[in-house]
Amino acid sequence: MSKVIVISGTPGTGKTTVASILVKKIKGIHIDLSDLVLKEKLYKEVDEKRETVIADLDRLLPKLREIIRSANSPIIVEGHYAEIVPSKFVNVAIILRTHPKELEKRLEKKNFKESKIRENIQAEILGVCSYNALNAYEKEKIYEIDTTSKTPNETVNIILEILEGKGENYKIGKIDWLAVLEKEGTLSYFFE
Ligand code: ADP
Ligand code: MG
Repeated sequence: MSKVIVISGTPGTGKTTVASILVKKIKGIHIDLSDLVLKEKLYKEVDEKRETVIADLDRLLPKLREIIRSANSPIIVEGHYAEIVPSKFVNVAIILRTHPKELEKRLEKKNFKESKIRENIQAEILGVCSYNALNAYEKEKIYEIDTTSKTPNETVNIILEILEGKGENYKIGKIDWLAVLEKEGTLSYFFE
């Protein structure tokens, strides 16, 4: 049953880019949760202030179960709340991480507005997606990859290693931006 590869991470960490390459290599199915929710109108509200929609989990989860049950190939489910995929379906959960300064550049490129950039960077510093994954899955299934100075292809190759059971170096718990920023003396810049 565990045929799902969950890819989570703060917006801008590279989920969609990485999943698009990975899906070809493993001949799988790519599900971008944000896309699915928009295309199938699986949301209950539009949060205009935060320029986002609130997914309707009561409709999204049955839809996901249906896709997972009917699939005969591996499925990559990616999104910043991808830990909603029930644990019994999940083979591994990969959390993409990015240094806040680099994430700021990537989100500026995506034309996110300033308040949204700030909110996402703070979530990345505090490790919100990793925390959520830890609440959803056994620790043994969760890996984190720092994409800051890697190319998308390098990130994909690491995921392939993890899928082969060679992910020891990427077990969750090694990335701590709070400590990194404190050392750099830049923590207040992101929280002022
Ligand atoms: P997300 O789906 O997580 O919001 P995207 O894939 O849409 O992120 O955007 C990530 C951006 O970061 C892309 O422009 C991508 O080219 C860039 N990028 C730089 N390095 C990496 C990397 N190692 N892995 C993934 N994306 C990267
Ligand atoms: Mg995306």
